[in-house]
Order: sequence, then C-alpha cells, then structure tokens
Amino acid sequence: MGSSDLSGNRTVQCCIAGGGPAGMMLGLLLARAGIKVLVLEKHRDFLRDFRGDTIHPSTLEVLHELGILEEFLKLPHQKVSELRAQFGDRLIPVADFRGVRARCPFIAMIPQWDFLNFLARHAARYPGFGLMMQAEVTGLLFQENKIKGVEAESQDGPLQIQADLVIGADGRHSTVREQAGLEVLDLGAPIDGDYWQCAFVIAKGALDGLKQRGLEAFRATISGLLPFAADRMKEIASWDDAKLLSVQVNRLRNWCRDGLLCVGDAAHAMSPVGGVGINLAIQDAVAAANLLWGPLRASSLSLGSLQAVQKRREFPTRVTQRFQVLVQNRILTRVLSDAGGPLQAPFAVRMLERYPILRQIPARLVGVGVRPEHVRSPSIAA
Ligand SMILES: Cc1cc2nc3c(=O)[nH]c(=O)nc-3n(C[C@H](O)[C@H](O)[C@H](O)COP(=O)(O)OP(=O)(O)OC[C@H]3O[C@@H](n4cnc5c(N)ncnc54)[C@H](O)[C@@H]3O)c2cc1C
Repeated sequence: MGSSDLSGNRTVQCCIAGGGPAGMMLGLLLARAGIKVLVLEKHRDFLRDFRGDTIHPSTLEVLHELGILEEFLKLPHQKVSELRAQFGDRLIPVADFRGVRARCPFIAMIPQWDFLNFLARHAARYPGFGLMMQAEVTGLLFQENKIKGVEAESQDGPLQIQADLVIGADGRHSTVREQAGLEVLDLGAPIDGDYWQCAFVIAKGALDGLKQRGLEAFRATISGLLPFAADRMKEIASWDDAKLLSVQVNRLRNWCRDGLLCVGDAAHAMSPVGGVGINLAIQDAVAAANLLWGPLRASSLSLGSLQAVQKRREFPTRVTQRFQVLVQNRILTRVLSDAGGPLQAPFAVRMLERYPILRQIPARLVGVGVRPEHVRSPSIAA
C-alpha cells in the first residue's frame, strides 16, 4: 500500500480524508482497480452520532455489481418497502418501493457502522488498500498551486502523506475543503435535528426555547407523539442525552482543484429529508472511481479528469437538493411554525394518498435517485 519512511510518512497514489460511506466505498473501488490508496479516519471506530442507517436500492445494486450483495444481506437488517408520514392522527403512505425497477426494491435498514465495517473488511482484501484509524487530516501539502498530499495527526504523532490525488470525503464540516479554499454555496435548512434514537426535528435556533420549557415538557411532547415509547422517557435523564445536530444543505461551487477532489457531504451537505445522503455519497464514489482509476493508474491525472467527476455528479446533486429544499420550505417549515390545531396533510401528500401509483415517483427519487451509477472500474487486484 505505497511506500513509507521510518517516521511513518508515506507516498500513495490516492489519499482519502474521511472513512464515511463516500471515503470507504471509493477506497474499496480504487484498491480493487489496483490503485494504492490510504484512507485516514479521525475516529477510532465507525461508531458515530446519528447519521442515518439507510441502504437504498441503488447502493444495493452497487454491492451486487461488486459481488458482495448476498453476504451483505446476511447482516441483520430490516427491509422497508414503504415510507409513511404521520399528519395529526393520520398515517399516510408517501413512497412505495415495490414498484421500483431494481434487484432489491426496498431500503435495507442497517446500522451505519455495520455497513462501514463491511466495506472495510472487503477493501482489506486488496493489497493496495490501507485504512488508518485515529488519523485526523489537519492540513494540505502544496507544491506551488498544486495539492500534493496531506498532513495528519495520528496516534504516533504528526504524519505527512504524499499523494497524486487527495480526496476530501471528510463530511459536511470538511477540513479539506476549507484548507483548499473551496467556496461553499449555502442553500439553507430551516431545521435542526435533536436526536434520541430517531431525530426529533425542531425549527432552526429553537433549541433554547425547548430547553426553557424544561425536560419534563420535552419528555411529555415525545411520549405524546410516540405513546409506545412513553415508558422509556426516563432514559432522557438530562439535556446531555439529547444532542443537537445542525442540518445543512450546501454545495461547493468547484468540487476540485489541481490534485484534490471533494465527494459526498464534503462536496454537498445533504439534509436528512428523504434520507438520501448516504446514497449520494456512494454514487459519487462509484462515479469518481469509474472516471479516475485509469488516469491514476497511468499517472496522467489532470484537473480535467477531476472536473469530469463534478460534471457527472453535479446534476443529480442539484436535483436532489432542490427537492429537499422544496420539502423543507413547503412542508417542514409550515409544520414547525404551526401554532396549533390538527395538522393537515399538504396537497401533494393527499394526492399520494389518493393515487397509489404516484407513490412510485418519490420511491424512485429516494431509492434510486437521478442518474444512477454503475461500477465500471475493473477488478484488477484481489
Ligand atoms: C440528522 C441527520 C440524519 C440523516 N439521516 C440520513 C438517512 O437516514 N439516510 C441517508 O442516506 N442519509 C442521512 N443523512 C445524511 C448522511 O448521513 C450523509 O449525507 C452521509 O453520511 C455522507 O457521507 P460522507 O461519507 O460524505 O460523509 P460522512 O458520513 O460525514 O463521513 C465523513 C467521515 O470523515 C471523518 N472525518 C471528518 N473530518 C476528518 C478529518 N479531518 N480527518 C479524517 N477524518 C475525518 C468523519 O469522522 C467521518 O467518518 C442524515 C444527516 C443528518 C445530519
């Protein structure tokens, strides 16, 4: 997996900052295509704050193309064939995956750490793959205007990794994109997620008011919404048991510069609406591997190769974010600012209730997305 000197500094073809869905999938695909790749993950394991545990039909398709779907589906998971939304006391079906043309017409609910451990296990089969946990990327190495690698803090001290390509897959608070000076376009998200095990969505900035009303009132609100969980409310012993997760929707104007490409949330932070962020991160990884394994292997990587990845993935990202912002503005903002009275389902949702065939539209958008990617990078090293 590349060469290293006595201080642990290394040279690889590709260094990936961040071992989330985007970084782990891209690491696996590039190593599979014979590229020497090192993933640096700042945490010691894949356990993390709530980030969604949804593996969509298009990701399941990618796992099939890699020949590891059957094994993946042996991991404990739940199959979700339909999404429903509750308005007042009415539960309305809004997406039906059974009509989606896919090998697996369902969402597999599986803890994200199980998914990431699964990817790590499979990536480790390839000799070119390396994963360093507890290694936080803190800076970039430049040669004139070109990015030539990263600086990181590891358990054994500071580290420098030289690479032909640096990938920023370090999520929506990306250090890499900040260090590279890439401009972020903020699309706005009027919600924050205050999580227990699922998210409790509040209006942006509403946490102080929630806290002022007191923990007992918070517990009462939750048990009112979910009576089956009423006997669990003592689990929320203090506000420390309810962590605020600010939701963002943004994207970079330029996803790359010479020697560097951002993918996944680092290139475009997704809102939890529709639960599509993991899916998009995986799709970015597949597209990046398809377009970059060849130039990396031939040592002919150029800015144009990196721009081709943005060109391929920007359209699906824009469409999906537009859909998320629409749902936030048209539905969530109205729900969160509702002064009281029974909550009415919006017109579009009533149509979904009335005409079941329409539920295939959100199912397709959420389950497969726009411009689904297929694995075209080869399996060279095993
Ligand atoms: C409240 C909430 C709920 C969500 N629910 C869902 C859902 O149900 N379904 C869904 O598909 N999506 C959901 N999402 C979105 C989804 O979690 C993200 O879009 C997805 O995880 C992005 O993957 P990623 O690999 O790009 O980034 P991340 O998953 O954020 O991974 C980035 C990784 O980089 C590491 N890292 C960060 N900085 C550094 C550094 N400097 N050096 C080294 N490593 C670093 C992090 O530890 C992390 O492991 C939700 C998001 C939020 C906020």
